[in-house]
Amino acid sequence: MVARSSVLLPCLLCLLFLSLSSASPPPPSTVCIVGSGISGASLAHFLRKYTPSPSPIAGIRIFERNAVVGGRMATVNIGGETFEAGASIIHPKNYHVSNFTSLLKLKRRLGDDNDDSDSLGVWDGKRFVVKTLRSDSKLPFMNKFVPLINSVKLFWRYGFSLLRMQSFVQTMLNNFLKYYESSDSRPVFSRVEDMLKWSGLYNLTCRTLEEELIGAGLSSLLIQELVTVITRINYGQSVQMSGLAGAVSLAGSGGGLWAVEGGNWQMAAGLINSSDVELHLNEEIQSVSHLGTYYELNSTKGNSYECQVMAFATPLDELNIRFDPPISAPERKLQHTYTTFIRGLLNPAYFGLRTVTEVPDLVGTLEDPNIPFSCIAVLKKHSREEMTYKMFSRKPLDDALLDQVFSTRKQTIRIDWAAYPHYKAPEAFAPFILDDWHMYYINAFESAASAMETGAVSAENMARLILSRLSTEPYPSFSTVKNSAFGSNEDYLHTDL
Ligand SMILES: Cc1cc2nc3c(=O)[nH]c(=O)nc-3n(C[C@H](O)[C@H](O)[C@H](O)COP(=O)(O)OP(=O)(O)OC[C@H]3O[C@@H](n4cnc5c(N)ncnc54)[C@H](O)[C@@H]3O)c2cc1C
Repeated sequence: MVARSSVLLPCLLCLLFLSLSSASPPPPSTVCIVGSGISGASLAHFLRKYTPSPSPIAGIRIFERNAVVGGRMATVNIGGETFEAGASIIHPKNYHVSNFTSLLKLKRRLGDDNDDSDSLGVWDGKRFVVKTLRSDSKLPFMNKFVPLINSVKLFWRYGFSLLRMQSFVQTMLNNFLKYYESSDSRPVFSRVEDMLKWSGLYNLTCRTLEEELIGAGLSSLLIQELVTVITRINYGQSVQMSGLAGAVSLAGSGGGLWAVEGGNWQMAAGLINSSDVELHLNEEIQSVSHLGTYYELNSTKGNSYECQVMAFATPLDELNIRFDPPISAPERKLQHTYTTFIRGLLNPAYFGLRTVTEVPDLVGTLEDPNIPFSCIAVLKKHSREEMTYKMFSRKPLDDALLDQVFSTRKQTIRIDWAAYPHYKAPEAFAPFILDDWHMYYINAFESAASAMETGAVSAENMARLILSRLSTEPYPSFSTVKNSAFGSNEDYLHTDL
């Protein structure tokens, strides 16, 4: 009897110890984020914001292959002045980026591409089929009168279809607002499809924008002209793009659009700076291997890092990262947008006009393969003879063409952006969780619509998903860092492209 209890007691103690140790909090994890654009920066911010105490996160590393943070939020310097080169405008209902701006005490200004006094022209390759008036008169009453005339002009051409378009966009926006509901009532989504279905937006990704708009009662004239101009400007694509991205693009043509004074990239910089992140600039991640209890990341600098959680905050479509074991995601093509900045003066003769003042401030174009650009916008009027322009096109614009479109060109800067997904209905979505462990993909949501705000919305959900999965499915081992220790990251700089 005595001998038996002497065997049982250690066993019971052992069981007690095991049950106590399984109740103790799991060891904290290192989170590695690839990409320092708005998605990566927002993920770091929301992970810190939502993390419980004691924190399940040991540290956050962000890897950025470029020398600066911000990704597709970048500025360009032309003639000594700075302009947005990528993401430029923010919708008034983009609440996450609006909150970031306030939190970081950044200033707002009207977006580059959005000045209510600007005139719009719809160019069909031979003539302007629509042309609105410019309201930059010195007489204040004229400035009130001209928008009214423009509205009447547009109503005369497109009729009630304009109101139906507004209501189509409003419905989409109302559904999108559900993503700002309290996290008490808002689920955490592990699939893009579920996130879109919950807000009522999924069906819009199943049909083309054109099909959706015909269904909403819009005239084909409005779809082939104004709507086409907008989708070509905002996504470089036609109305054959999927309906949700198309609706987001239409929302981006409304009033009240704004940008961060000095550059939208400052949102990423500020969020990273305030989220206790170890930032690795000029360090491209080349391979990711899952080694049982952690991921090993290898970079172009020859460094290796161990992370229990890793998140991609960049589209994977044009990247050459080696995955072991391999991951799979539906094929997605990116739409390249060639952005050309010119300081000089347009040639009115190219448009069959006599003076440059007759050329609208924003020239949008119709879907015709013979038209070599999607749009030309005046960014700044320096004098009557000199302005800064931004052009978007689907192919690079060579000097011979630019010399026809412009009478003078003092400076030209060209940027080739792998800009956003090429949208096609029905959309197929990559998973938010790329494997069975802790590898996450924020930009899976970009197949719904690409914008600074959609990046932030996806990152917010991702932060909650990571934290909730860490609390239920943690890795057993502590993080170990091979090549560098966590430290300060005061010294990253921003430079213009
Ligand atoms: C010309 C243009 C105009 C646009 N206009 C608007 C607009 O007006 N309003 C709007 O809201 N949105 C606009 N967008 C879309 C918007 O820019 C994007 O949706 C958003 O910025 C995407 O942010 P992100 O952080 O997801 O990706 P990104 O900004 O692309 O960031 C990804 C980062 O990851 C880095 N990276 C990639 N691979 C690696 C690697 N292997 N290792 C390390 N780092 C890596 C990249 O260098 C990059 O910095 C526009 C985009 C373009 C191109």
